[in-house]
Amino acid sequence: MDKIQAPRGTFDVLPDDGRARLGLLRICEETLERAGYGPFDTPIFEATELFERGVGETTDVVEKEMFTFDDQGGRSITLRPEGTAPVCRAYVEHGMHKQPQPVKLWYWGPFFRYEAPQAGRYRQFTQVGLEAIGSDDPSLDAESILLLTDVLRRAHTRGVRVRLSSLGTAETRRTYSDELREHLLAHQNDLSDDVRNRLDRNPLRAFDSDHPGTQAVLTDAPRLIDRLAPEDAEHFADVRALLDEANLEYEVDGTLVRGLDYYTRTVFEFESTELGAQSALGGGGRYDGLVEMLGGPPTPAVGWAAGVERILLASELGPEERSRSIFVAYDARGLFRDGFSLVQALRARGVPANIEQAGRSLKGQLKHADRLGADTVVIFLDEGLEIRDMKTGEQRPAASAEEALKLLT
Ligand code: AMP
Repeated sequence: MDKIQAPRGTFDVLPDDGRARLGLLRICEETLERAGYGPFDTPIFEATELFERGVGETTDVVEKEMFTFDDQGGRSITLRPEGTAPVCRAYVEHGMHKQPQPVKLWYWGPFFRYEAPQAGRYRQFTQVGLEAIGSDDPSLDAESILLLTDVLRRAHTRGVRVRLSSLGTAETRRTYSDELREHLLAHQNDLSDDVRNRLDRNPLRAFDSDHPGTQAVLTDAPRLIDRLAPEDAEHFADVRALLDEANLEYEVDGTLVRGLDYYTRTVFEFESTELGAQSALGGGGRYDGLVEMLGGPPTPAVGWAAGVERILLASELGPEERSRSIFVAYDARGLFRDGFSLVQALRARGVPANIEQAGRSLKGQLKHADRLGADTVVIFLDEGLEIRDMKTGEQRPAASAEEALKLLT
């Protein structure tokens, strides 16, 4: 029969990768829980309107990347392409504005975007992210940036670079958009079709274009970061002061606009020089208007999301070191039951243990134990038990399974 393959842009996680992912998950959990962020989860699918309204109808994500379908009841459903709008939806739905603010949350899970698959870019991928909702204190912006720095440092991620900017308020951005549009219109023949077509609706997206003509036009375009209102400029200066204090190296980059519409004030992006074309490890920023846009009270907030697969690609995070592992071998099937009981007893005491389950000869079992990385093999023989040290090859007898258990735990 024909083989059935996983859909384009998706991947299976095999055990070695799975262990590295679990290692990263543990790093995230420790780092974020320590900073007071609570674990949070929302459904994999949401009402399509959440993303249309929350992320913005003129963004790439909403215009062309969503997996959207009607359910059997005729409701339009979308597989979540990002996590911030769902978390804010949940914050409003559960009246979390009544809790002490800020509410700090973190999540880890699958996300879906219909993009052209390539190395580091998938249609189903995993994000880890955090949101701090309910305060505009610049220390939350700085803290969130430092937490992502910390996660990446602990994962030994190579070639990390941080870029930072501020977009001001939605109103500053509107005025600036008009100014930028004028500039782009004056050079419209040099722009890519895509940028020209979006000039009316979203001229800022020009900064995301890698079209050479567009980039040339942008070199002397006005920068939003030079148009900030005094209180926004001061907020940004406070964020920077805290990052400087923490000795974080970053670059202020006035061309950083981020792909999603909800950002205000601070925006940032983490990249790795190790990743080639898909270099973004993660990014985020402040989104002071989003909770209100989703029907909640005016509520400032900041957060980020990072791509788990990309972090793993750029990190030296091998499978976790296993302290020890024992393999139970036997030279006649009649000895299996005793061996099986010993395995249960070892596992119950927290020692990783395995037993032959595929009918190999004793010689084959020892080879298999070696392949599995066992440091010790307990061999059940008709004449008694032997405990073999796989590193030195030395063997010593044990009087019974009970004695072996004592010796090994
Ligand atoms: P974004 O919300 O688009 O900034 O995404 C945050 C992070 O998620 C990015 O920096 C990437 O690391 C990761 N990411 C986004 N889209 C994909 C994708 N299609 N495949 C793999 N990772 C992705």
